[in-house]
Amino acid sequence: MGKKILIAGGGIGGLAAAAGLLQAGHDVEVFEQAPELTEVGAGIQVSANATRVLYNLGLKKALDDVSVLPQRTEFRLHDTGEVISEIPLGPDHEAKFGAPYYHVYRPDILRMLRERVEALKPGCIRLNATVEGYEEQADRVVMTLKGGETVAGDLLIGADGIKSAIREQMHGAQEAEFTGQVAWRGMIPAEKLPDDFMPPVFINWMGPRRHMVVYWVNKGNYLNFVGCTEKPDWTEVGWTIKAPWEDLKADYEGFHPDVQTMLDAMDRDSCYCWALNIRPRLPFWSTERVTLLGDSCHPTIPYMAQGAVMAIEDGAVLVRALDEGRDLAEALTLYEQARIDRTARIVNESTAHAQLYHHDTHKAFRDAFADKQPAADRAKWLYNYDPLTVPLRPKPVQTDG
Ligand code: FAD
Repeated sequence: MGKKILIAGGGIGGLAAAAGLLQAGHDVEVFEQAPELTEVGAGIQVSANATRVLYNLGLKKALDDVSVLPQRTEFRLHDTGEVISEIPLGPDHEAKFGAPYYHVYRPDILRMLRERVEALKPGCIRLNATVEGYEEQADRVVMTLKGGETVAGDLLIGADGIKSAIREQMHGAQEAEFTGQVAWRGMIPAEKLPDDFMPPVFINWMGPRRHMVVYWVNKGNYLNFVGCTEKPDWTEVGWTIKAPWEDLKADYEGFHPDVQTMLDAMDRDSCYCWALNIRPRLPFWSTERVTLLGDSCHPTIPYMAQGAVMAIEDGAVLVRALDEGRDLAEALTLYEQARIDRTARIVNESTAHAQLYHHDTHKAFRDAFADKQPAADRAKWLYNYDPLTVPLRPKPVQTDG
């Protein structure tokens, strides 16, 4: 029988989970603190492991209508622009991993998820609804909203992001550790750039202690960039925290003329900077009637572009665990067991990628990228993962006789 499920947070993770749970016959309500459901004007990369979940939610056409299918990843030296390594995407990614790799504008993906959720259960997303805490009782969980209103359900999912109130109640306040690195981001309308500025590829411009990734979104209407560099005195975490354009330009001084063209073309008042933090791995994600999902339980630095992808995977596995578990306790155990090691591996490897993308000399870059096997091996376990079929129960151990 379907459960009454409360979701704190209407970001990509919360809405993807809501759509999957509604599709599976549960009764879902989403509580979002913001007055409207909006995503920042930034890009997001969606690899096969999440694409198959979005397809399962009926979003193939919506994705094809608004996204970009990049043809390849190019790793370039920051100053000369020499391509030192390439990974084919486009048809190759789909053929190898079973589903396409998309570049999506974040407002587009949030809109398609919202429309899917509202089609399945109109009016189930409540805005201006800040979740402050919860109380678990024997037969239900009671959640409290800012202002004092309480709402009861069978299960509460904390999909409330990196500053999660649900995680804080479950685990206490947790100190995030600043990596000393920040992510600059910005978006440039295509008409501000020279014609044929860049094909539909993903470019990683790699330099000393900094890199910058660039790709098109929204059918090529915008060029999105994320530039990661060291900035030990910047500790603010958030998508909409502005920083001076002049500082961004200074950080990327010496980068290729294409990078300068891009930075010169951007709106100088729309330059954002996010401090990249890591948090210790949580020992557990669930109690009797509460669980966590997405950035609330495994925030990552974005070097493997898997943060939202992991949140989407979480929701799909949780749907299956609720179906396969004999009761709620077992379902939450199955969910957590299936997810906790994979997400920790992605988080750890993302952190380690700073070493791969930041070198001082051309030779060091060439050496680091000479062996293509590690990237090929990583792609296999990362993108072949299918949240819709991955076994949730450990295989029985075979014994002789
Ligand atoms: P969020 O997106 O943070 O959503 C949480 C929601 O909960 C928000 O809407 C918030 O308003 C709401 N909320 C918070 N507190 C409360 C409360 N108390 N009550 C009610 N609502 C609440 N990931 C990728 O997969 N691919 C990429 O290419 C990629 N690029 C990135 C680039 C950068 C620079 C950064 C910083 C991250 C990137 N990520 C990427 C990571 C990705 O953005 C996150 O992992 C993803 O957004 C997490 O989704 P979420 O739904 O868990 O959390």
